[in-house]
Amino acid sequence: MNFYIMTLFPDMVMNALSESITGRAMAKGHFNVEAVNIRDYSLDKHNKVDDYPYGGGAGMVMQAQPIYDCFQSIVDRIEGSYRCIYLTPQGKTFNQPMAKKLVTEENLIFLCGHYEGVDERVLEEIVDENISLGDFVLTGGELPAIVMVDAIARLIPGVLHNDDSAFTESFENGLLEYPQYSRPEEWHGKKVPEILLSGDHKKVDEWRLSQSIERTKRLRPDLLKDNENF
Ligand code: SAM
Repeated sequence: MNFYIMTLFPDMVMNALSESITGRAMAKGHFNVEAVNIRDYSLDKHNKVDDYPYGGGAGMVMQAQPIYDCFQSIVDRIEGSYRCIYLTPQGKTFNQPMAKKLVTEENLIFLCGHYEGVDERVLEEIVDENISLGDFVLTGGELPAIVMVDAIARLIPGVLHNDDSAFTESFENGLLEYPQYSRPEEWHGKKVPEILLSGDHKKVDEWRLSQSIERTKRLRPDLLKDNENF
């Protein structure tokens, strides 16, 4: 799977994703990330990519031409299908089901806005989907793009050491994950629940499910509303 990230700050994206699990998985060829600098496609002699908004108002707007040419340069060398996603606070809020859907794509192209946003005309021409990270405003789309690539890439088989872990985590079955414990058996006077030391896998599974339900009721009751099993 290939991720192309159109951005004014390619180092920001590549530095973040080259670390840790995503960095190792890329090195092993499980997926590929390319940050493409929109500024390289400016036709302005000072490499400008933004200008004042028509109608006045605060801030600058990213111009259509450099973004469109950047997008075309990517599309021209892509093999197979692709989807173009604009990271915007006006989009649908990103969640785990969306990550699971997007991991089935061959190529994802992300557009990271900056300043006041992007000239609407280029959005109309290239964007398939508007996605937000949440109801707040960031300075740019780079952090949301990094978050989305991380969430999607960890669902690609082989990226996690143990592929099962992606399927026992929060949101997988509409529940939050149960509490986890590691060594030592006692820390600050708190003991690991006895059942986890019993070696009885059936009982452990039952305990974990009951903990998941209790925790979801307490922390995210909204998740249970749509879940007819609980
Ligand atoms: N003027 C825009 C508005 O009110 O909708 C916000 C522009 S924001 C300052 C600059 C860029 O940051 C946006 O074009 C978008 O790419 C990105 N951005 C900001 N908040 C975001 C969020 N919650 N989710 C995804 N992208 C976001």
